[in-house]
Amino acid sequence: MNDKRVAVITGGGGGIGKRIAEVLAINGIIISLIDADEGLLENTRKEFEDSGFEVRTLASSVTDEEAMEGIAKEIFGEYDRVDILINNAGITKDGLLLRMKKESWDAVLSVNLTGAFICSRVFSRFLMKSPAGRIVNISSVVGQMGNAGQANYCASKAGIIGLTKSLARELAGKKVTVNAVAPGFIQTRMTDVLSEKVREQMMGMIPLGSFGTVDDIAHAVNFLVSEESGYITGHVLNVNGGMYM
Ligand code: NAD
Repeated sequence: MNDKRVAVITGGGGGIGKRIAEVLAINGIIISLIDADEGLLENTRKEFEDSGFEVRTLASSVTDEEAMEGIAKEIFGEYDRVDILINNAGITKDGLLLRMKKESWDAVLSVNLTGAFICSRVFSRFLMKSPAGRIVNISSVVGQMGNAGQANYCASKAGIIGLTKSLARELAGKKVTVNAVAPGFIQTRMTDVLSEKVREQMMGMIPLGSFGTVDDIAHAVNFLVSEESGYITGHVLNVNGGMYM
């Protein structure tokens, strides 16, 4: 078995997922990135290699169960271990209820929730072989609070919390911990598209008075995959500047 731990990060081509990957790599973990955006993934692969990090990139959608099965076997075949799965891939397709098309509902649930289920299922049989398997699911503050215009997204992120707690109970016997990180408003591509008005409204709801960064999320995830967090499972770690307590 390889000495170094091996992590798989979905949606790792950019934003929060990419930063999680960098922080784990700095801590000596071998990284595999899965992302649907091949161009983004390729740029990230080059950046990682230039920094001297070992990285594997796999362009595919987390909704493609057969592809995920193949990728899980490929990664295990290469390193003889998979220790960490970060279910981070996510999309938004916002709209008020009366205008939200069923396709937007299905698309968001499919990537954000079903994708996390598929990856957890295909990778868990390898995680169970690890001495300290870890799953960290990326939820959202709005999965706990709700948000007008994001019924599909909020339902998917609330679903992630139910998935996390159920898998924490199921996999505990195999010493695999399953936790969620619930980010607040984090500056990335996903939030760059919001209007100034919405951003101002959000800021008014954050007691710490600033938006979060990808570093804030990456460090929380890094703690949850560490040896020191081995007695924590089924937990939702809020990283939201106090927006929801
Ligand atoms: P982002 O759009 O920068 O990153 C999401 C990544 O997921 C992209 O690289 C994208 O290509 C990838 N992706 C999308 N669909 C995919 C699919 N079907 N299969 C594989 N990869 C796919 O957004 P981000 O802000 O970095 O978001 C990362 C996670 O954090 C998401 O789950 C998001 O819901 C969550 N989150 C973000 C915020 C925020 O404020 N940015 C807040 C709470 C939660």
